[in-house]
Amino acid sequence: MSESSFDVVVIGAGPAGYPCAIRAAQNKLKVACIDEWKNHDGKYAFGGTCLNAGCIPSKALLESSELYHRARTEFAAHGIKASGIEFDLSAMQKRKTQIVKASTQGITGLFKGAGVTALQGHGRLLAGNRVEYTAADGTTSTLVARHVVLASGSAPMELKTVPFDGTTVVDSWGALEFAEVPKRLGVIGAGVIGLELGSVWRRLGAEVVVLEALQEFLFMVDQQVAKEALKHFNKLGLDIRLGAKVTAAKQGAGGVTLVYTDVSGEQQVMVDKVVVAIGRRPFTSGLLGDGTGVELDERGFIKVDHECRTAAANVWAIGDVVRGPMLAHKGKEEGLMVGDLIAGLVAEVNYDAVPSVIYSAPEIAWVGQTEEQLKASGRAYKVGSFPFMASGRARAMEATAGFAKVISAVDDDELLGVHIIGPMAGELIAEAVLAMEYSASTEDLQRTMHAHPTLSEALHEAALAADKRAIDYPNK
Ligand code: FAD
Ligand code: NAD
Repeated sequence: MSESSFDVVVIGAGPAGYPCAIRAAQNKLKVACIDEWKNHDGKYAFGGTCLNAGCIPSKALLESSELYHRARTEFAAHGIKASGIEFDLSAMQKRKTQIVKASTQGITGLFKGAGVTALQGHGRLLAGNRVEYTAADGTTSTLVARHVVLASGSAPMELKTVPFDGTTVVDSWGALEFAEVPKRLGVIGAGVIGLELGSVWRRLGAEVVVLEALQEFLFMVDQQVAKEALKHFNKLGLDIRLGAKVTAAKQGAGGVTLVYTDVSGEQQVMVDKVVVAIGRRPFTSGLLGDGTGVELDERGFIKVDHECRTAAANVWAIGDVVRGPMLAHKGKEEGLMVGDLIAGLVAEVNYDAVPSVIYSAPEIAWVGQTEEQLKASGRAYKVGSFPFMASGRARAMEATAGFAKVISAVDDDELLGVHIIGPMAGELIAEAVLAMEYSASTEDLQRTMHAHPTLSEALHEAALAADKRAIDYPNK
């Protein structure tokens, strides 16, 4: 078995692993990055879940389906007459595949440019900071590394009562690949994936029923925002049933019958396809050899400290495989931090300023604490909000749904949480993240000039409203 040595070996080239490898190489370290992801065409591709089966393909289909939906429902309001609007699903899917391909091939180029040794195949951590690498042709070699970074990501959770079969009952990847719009689609889980993918297929004509076990809709979101969001999902036609616990799935000639219980007792709904989107679990299968010293917690996440150090010396872990939100940008920042820490530089991740976005229409985005969390904390707070209905730009865009909400501390004016539901909320939230990163006060936001007419003025006005000084909307 051949042996080669590196300063850093990263296992996993998703949005956590590949930026870590590039950053370490930028820091003049000798780096290898191993990834085993294979797409449906049987070919290896860097980029992990995010680029191949998550963030990027889902946003491609969200964009296409939203354009189609808007053309049918909004053009008339702009005075545009359009008739016979149709879509070609295979063209949509082809566009999505091309976007994925361009993104994943881009990583190969980035690795080359940064001088990272890119290895496609399986990586397994062995004791003593060695990594066993199994290439596509089955040959194995050992990489000796001063530091190893584990970035093996996550996988969809399975529901025992509704097992995946790859055709009728699928996971999120399967739901991105439908060749035909299902007539009736059942989605289990009204989380981020269920709502985003449910929206895609609803816009393209499917009857979509979403079964959510919890009674509370979007429990992790500020509940004022969640309430507004539910209205818009219902308006789109998503049939969201809360407090619905699925107990069985029965396949028959007419489709799949999903059996569930809710407050009224046992219920049934018949669908043609089922997407199970009940969360993801950390993926460590085949990752750890004997005696590595790396520890897992009771839920299977690799245990790390605030700097992503595992229990084993010079072994780090980042991204979905460790605690914290399963978000690409959170993994990326951890990757950059670790790439710098290994090189002896100062670096940290601010886990209090991780933005979240749900790419629905209108979009939902937030950073910091919700009003419910603040109530529970006991800290005195003030709230300012501004409806997009009062924004000139939003009116011009025919996109007046939703609002921006700023929550600040009464004692020192600290910005504690920003919650937006409305047009381009995912872009608007960046300003709030930056403000929180720099410990801005609400007054800082109030005194920052915002271009007119832009959607960002809604955040400015919401900050002003927190002190009852809004100009473009009556203060309450
Ligand atoms: P992954 O992206 O899962 O990458 C891990 C990589 O490691 C994979 O390529 C895997 O094959 C490889 N690997 C694992 N074990 C080994 C091994 N032993 N040897 C070699 N290679 C190995 N997040 C957002 O922030 N925004 C979004 O809009 C968003 N949309 C999403 C939509 C969907 C449908 C899904 C499923 C997820 C979405 N996410 C989104 C979540 C996001 O994809 C993840 O948070 C992100 O991919 C995690 O990055 P990671 O690098 O930790 O893991
Ligand atoms: P999630 O945790 O967001 O939502 C899962 C939902 O399923 C929850 O509401 C939960 O109560 C419900 N649920 C759990 N068990 C159930 C059951 N047996 N029956 C019915 N409902 C059940 O998980 P997800 O939507 O699968 O997404 C996985 C991860 O991917 C998330 O952590 C998310 O952060 C990430 N993601 C992010 C984005 C984004 O940033 N826009 C998009 C997609 C995915």
